[in-house]
Amino acid sequence: MGASWRIAPEVLDLIEREARTSFPNECCGVLIGRRRGGVAWLVQAVPARNVTGRNPRRSFEIDPTLLLALQKSLRGSPEFVAGFYHSHPRGVARPSPRDVGGATGGEIWMIAALDGPGRGLQLTSWQCLGSGRTKRFRLARLTRQ
Ligand SMILES: [Zn+2]
Repeated sequence: MGASWRIAPEVLDLIEREARTSFPNECCGVLIGRRRGGVAWLVQAVPARNVTGRNPRRSFEIDPTLLLALQKSLRGSPEFVAGFYHSHPRGVARPSPRDVGGATGGEIWMIAALDGPGRGLQLTSWQCLGSGRTKRFRLARLTRQ
């Protein structure tokens, strides 16, 4: 509980860029983590196609083929799938009820809210705790380094 993460500035920049270029649709992608000397890092963000069958302005689904390929390629390496990011165009930077439903538990979620491609952007980080009916998101501490 209360694990803190460090994140490379390039990862933040990539998520911001993705959120802006995907507007007015939601962008989404996978966060790759790595533990180094007892410290957890988010070392990379991998953009994914938003394959939602719903309105892409209000929902997302990470291309499952990409996710599977990533999990496979990271097997046996010190890196792992640590979580996901997506954007909330014209929304707020907190998990929606659908986000809570789609979370599995333990992973980091980063959410970028923006009102337009050239407008201010708010990026927040969350960790999903619990499972099943006790599942909830809590703000995660992320240090930019
Ligand atoms: Zn969402």
